[in-house]
Amino acid sequence: MNGQQTTSQRMIPPADIATTGGRRLYPCLCMIMLAAFFIFTAGHSSARETRASNEEYERLFVLANVEFTLWHELAHVVIWEMKPPVFGREEDAADNLAMIAEMRMQESEGEAGMLEKLQAVADGWKMEWRLIQEDELENAYWDLHALEIQRYYNIACLVYGANPEKHAVILEATQLPTDRAEGCRDEYAMANHAFDWLLSQGSHRMKDYSAINRRVISVRYEDNRSIEGEKLDAWLKESGLVERLAEAVARRFYLPRNVEISFENCPFANAAWNAETANIKFCHSLVNRFLYLARELQKDRLRQAEASFWQPDAGNSEHAYRLSLRKD
Ligand SMILES: [Zn+2]
Repeated sequence: MNGQQTTSQRMIPPADIATTGGRRLYPCLCMIMLAAFFIFTAGHSSARETRASNEEYERLFVLANVEFTLWHELAHVVIWEMKPPVFGREEDAADNLAMIAEMRMQESEGEAGMLEKLQAVADGWKMEWRLIQEDELENAYWDLHALEIQRYYNIACLVYGANPEKHAVILEATQLPTDRAEGCRDEYAMANHAFDWLLSQGSHRMKDYSAINRRVISVRYEDNRSIEGEKLDAWLKESGLVERLAEAVARRFYLPRNVEISFENCPFANAAWNAETANIKFCHSLVNRFLYLARELQKDRLRQAEASFWQPDAGNSEHAYRLSLRKD
């Protein structure tokens, strides 16, 4: 790490789902048999519905985590190109900037959709942490990034802090301790203020931009060559997610030069901003890793039969949220 290349984390070994999916086969054998029993007894129609439901969740989970990772890398772009004063670790600043962007730049999905996506991101970090503990891998206390479990609580804190009254249920759902929770409103306000400051810097300088001179964030895709790469590529391209984020950042932030986002076949589950080449390299291995994590979480849901969700309570008052319980 030379300071010019900043990564989004996911320091777990390469994430080829064909192999990582297999390493946890034996502990889960009973659950797989149990799942098979239910599928058989429920008949073909139910099996199809289960597959559709699983795939729907996998797609949501993968795209939500790609989106958060992209915001994180685009935050590195903004920090390196606009050079705001940064106290503390750049990685923490990038996470906070990504969180505020996710919460403020909701498109058609609204707040319920935003919460669903952020829960998927938080669940991803928690699952990464659990896998590290189960495999007795080294905890990277020395790393530029916060530990996976800290990033989980950081997301919970900022979402809760954005509106403590409305999001009170998140405290219970995430088990965020009161000692941290009582400062979350201030943490959110500080991050929100920093985001506003960056936008104001952009709008001031962008008055000088003509349409021709406006900087562009371009997107390039290599085909994902993994076993399920074709499907993952289709999810990514059909969503228009990457192009939407690229356009949003180029339009709102002052960038002195053009930037490229490239999805490439590289061995590590990683995404990184390279300031020398003005490129965000997003490895397909990381997209594959997200699919693997989604499936690990699905196994949990089968084990527990119930899972907590951060969704608003449609049957209650407009601003009330509850810890809803859903069976799969
Ligand atoms: Zn980073």
